[in-house]
Amino acid sequence: MKHCHCIFELIYFARPDSQIFGQNVYLCRKRLGRELAREYRPDVDLVMPFPDSGSYAAIGYAEESGIPFEMGMIRNHYVGRTFIQPTQPMRDFAVRVKLNPVKPLLEGKKVLIVEDSIIRGTTSRNRVKHLQGIGIKELHMVISCPPTMFPCPYGIDFSSKGELIATKKENEKAIAEFIGLDSLHYLTVEGMVKATGMPKECFCMACYTGDYPIAPPEKIDKFCMELK
Ligand code: SF4
Repeated sequence: MKHCHCIFELIYFARPDSQIFGQNVYLCRKRLGRELAREYRPDVDLVMPFPDSGSYAAIGYAEESGIPFEMGMIRNHYVGRTFIQPTQPMRDFAVRVKLNPVKPLLEGKKVLIVEDSIIRGTTSRNRVKHLQGIGIKELHMVISCPPTMFPCPYGIDFSSKGELIATKKENEKAIAEFIGLDSLHYLTVEGMVKATGMPKECFCMACYTGDYPIAPPEKIDKFCMELK
């Protein structure tokens, strides 16, 4: 059977201090940020993450671009990952208590947020809502992976294609409008693979490309029906 690594482990899931697929996750995330900076660089005053998972790509982006890195939002470490919460009200509540902006740092500034992924778009939209009304001049966002277009049948909770914001909206501009941004850029598949330093054949990237590397077992029947 073909063996492929889940590339989303490097982007989001794995602990940043861990060593997986022969490489350090923290350093890989920084390289994802560097690739983003090579692909898209709006005129902004500062780069900031939505902590914690966007932090390492944001450091890479800042290093590559020379734009100052700031922690414009502070995370409450007692709240879990929001897209894993089972219901939308629970996700909304978790976002509200999870992050708070540092208003004096951001007021009057053109800001670039580095985020590691957008799944349904609601978490990003709620986070951006926190940033609206505090006097930010422009708000841009870059994502350290390509648009998530397809569900994962291998155990990751992207429930169905219809829930994914990248399939519901026609392009990046429409997603940016939904979230409340001046612009949005996703890392390309090429940029993502380049940042790993590994051949693309090593990876499953099916949630971005729709190219499923193995015929999934019995569970896939239901999943395939959803795709149709
Ligand atoms: S589809 Fe593949 S790359 Fe995407 S989350 Fe699932 S296993 Fe990982």
